[in-house]
Amino acid sequence: MKDSNFLKEMNARSVWHPMAHPADSQQNPPTIVTGAQGVRITDVDGHEVVDGVGGLWNVNLGFSCEPVKAAIAAQLDRLPYYSIFRGTTNDCVIELAEELRDFFAPDGLSRAFYTSGGSDSVETALRLARQYHKVKGEPGRIKYLSLKKGYHGTHTGGASVNGNANFRTQYEPLLPGCYHIPAPYTYRNPFNETDPEKLAQLCLQALEDEIAFQGAGTIAAMIMEPVLGAGGVIPPHESFMPGVREICSKHGILLIADEVITAFGRTGSWTGSRHWGVQPDLMCTAKAITNGYFPFGAVMISDAVAEVFEKDESGRAAIGHGYTYSGHPVGAAAALACLAETKRLNVKDNAAARGAELHEGLKSLQADLDLIGDVRGGHGLMCAMELVSDRATKAPIDKARINQVQEVAYQSGAMVRVSGPNIILSPPLVLTSDDAQVILSALRAGFDSL
Ligand code: PMP
Repeated sequence: MKDSNFLKEMNARSVWHPMAHPADSQQNPPTIVTGAQGVRITDVDGHEVVDGVGGLWNVNLGFSCEPVKAAIAAQLDRLPYYSIFRGTTNDCVIELAEELRDFFAPDGLSRAFYTSGGSDSVETALRLARQYHKVKGEPGRIKYLSLKKGYHGTHTGGASVNGNANFRTQYEPLLPGCYHIPAPYTYRNPFNETDPEKLAQLCLQALEDEIAFQGAGTIAAMIMEPVLGAGGVIPPHESFMPGVREICSKHGILLIADEVITAFGRTGSWTGSRHWGVQPDLMCTAKAITNGYFPFGAVMISDAVAEVFEKDESGRAAIGHGYTYSGHPVGAAAALACLAETKRLNVKDNAAARGAELHEGLKSLQADLDLIGDVRGGHGLMCAMELVSDRATKAPIDKARINQVQEVAYQSGAMVRVSGPNIILSPPLVLTSDDAQVILSALRAGFDSL
């Protein structure tokens, strides 16, 4: 392997990184990861740390999941690619769809439309929602509702429903007809409401108001994450998602659950929707569906939505959408093996237990440190700390200080993710208690360095 400085120089010269200023890799060379085992990653300098990020919320089973690796290798040997566009299919995607149907049965979802990742899944769900209403004879239902602080990938539809200006401003104009509802974010909200249940009711009222303002008959779908992830791990009060479901059903609006992060156990339940006792009409999945080893995703579709398409005789239900890599046989083989391991290891229960430990640990850090304004989590292995320079005014911490916490935490044994004023933890779901303690003590070292 080339030496560390050489790679850093080449990287700065030739690679543009997602979600970073192109000049950033010259000033702050990124960590060059060269290997991984279990829940640990190793960098080009031989430094090994616990991966508190879990790849990018996707490596749920860790980096050494042999059955998934073996399935990928075997499938590459047998059938490395064939398309499933009209007229052909492959055996893996059929088998996988049957497994997904079983897995998602409690969510009321039975059909799979395959994609090559999370943004594709979001785009697919948004398009299917509009098409559903056209097939049903309500072509005026074209608008989308979503939550402020929500993250739905970076394709144009997804960016249009995204609720964070950083992912929107440079790419405007985006899709017309997208409207954002306040998120049930207790730490900061336009209502200055600190009680989660009351805040949930206020946000639900805002949703009702927006629907009344737009006219229910103009709205195709509401898309939301069951627990907002990239926006800073914001779990709503338990009444929120059921409330959204009720309002959507009342107004004939489809509910799209964006479970690109939350499906397959991360919240401590098999899906985030199930966590809140909700059945969505469409569900976006990706990431952990293949443990991050292969780009792949699926939009799961409810019986009721599927029947509208399948019973159509007008031709409007013909799907003019799909990707070259929809139903990639290698991805499908990876997903099949991954699903089997996910269930065999019952990772949702470990996510719940280790998530509670991490959340507790972060709360004790907060008790000692004024810089930690808010700690969020308590629903599986997704937690965040929001850092402030002043607890009373909640003024965000400056970038250099939060970067220092991250850097020292890394030197002390854990990779954590910084997103705006938040430090986010989303480790593999096979984390042990000892690994969780490594993450917590590395973070403490990071704070101590300030
Ligand atoms: N939706 C959600 C909720 C996500 O968290 C993400 C990615 N973090 C996406 C969509 C986009 O997925 P991808 O990056 O695979 O396109």
